[in-house]
Amino acid sequence: MSRLRAKIFLEQTIKYTLSSLLFYSGVIPLKNLFFHGEEGVRILTYHKVNNLKNSLNSIPSKEFRKQIEYLRTNYNIVSLDDFHESMTGGKKLPKKTVAITFDDGYRDNYTNAYPILEECRVPAAIFLTADYIGTNKVMPTYEGDETKSPFLSWQEVREMGNHGITFGSHSLTHSILIKRSPEQAKREIFESKRIIERETGKPAKFFSYPRGTKADFDRRMKDMVREAGYVAAFSAISGINDCRADPFELRRIAIETGDKGYIFMKKMQGALDVLFLRDTRKGQMLKDCFNSLLGIRLNKEGLVIEG
Ligand SMILES: [Zn+2]
Repeated sequence: MSRLRAKIFLEQTIKYTLSSLLFYSGVIPLKNLFFHGEEGVRILTYHKVNNLKNSLNSIPSKEFRKQIEYLRTNYNIVSLDDFHESMTGGKKLPKKTVAITFDDGYRDNYTNAYPILEECRVPAAIFLTADYIGTNKVMPTYEGDETKSPFLSWQEVREMGNHGITFGSHSLTHSILIKRSPEQAKREIFESKRIIERETGKPAKFFSYPRGTKADFDRRMKDMVREAGYVAAFSAISGINDCRADPFELRRIAIETGDKGYIFMKKMQGALDVLFLRDTRKGQMLKDCFNSLLGIRLNKEGLVIEG
């Protein structure tokens, strides 16, 4: 078994056990009953939709269709504009509302995900790594991730932009902002917005922090994002967003490789909300340890990886 497959298998086992324990012990049903439970919006993060083996952060097309159909039947799916409007005092969203986002801007979002989204008439947003769009560049990833995922072209971006897909920025180069100088971080945030708006002819109102855990950005970057004119920013910190949510540190639920069927449903029901612990600074350190124990090494420091 490759290291990457071992990692995916281990993560899947942990999630399966944890969600079953929390759900069938009554903890999650009770929490949903007594606390705000399903109040607030769950924003899902996808990366890739393809049928390649050993592709990190990837969901097979068939599984993606099942998930979208499940969401369409059981949830109210909104665009980021509708979500943002509700946050700023607009109309209140019903319980069990979700929004769908993609990070990075891979071509399979166009070839595999978009036809399903369009057929099901479901809105979604894609956060583009501006310097990669319309090029043959490949994002550095784990050693051993054999798939070299190509990025969208600007033509594909424009086509989807005319059919219900919103585009936001995921920085210029996918650099972890906290590891960059203030000037570099500022450039990643401002320049990506300018490029996306120039190419799409539409405002890029939303930002998503590269990698996006608590360890990857701080107050200074949040201020820069606001200053650049974005109206909201999305992290990779796990959780739901109620009326108290910080619009520049919104939480999301990552749909990762192996999050199929049962695990996906349990994630949607909140049985894995406890995973927000791994998105804290200490959690990120533990995650790095877990990866190095498995012998999975990250490529160049600071130039990202995973998410
Ligand atoms: Zn990313």
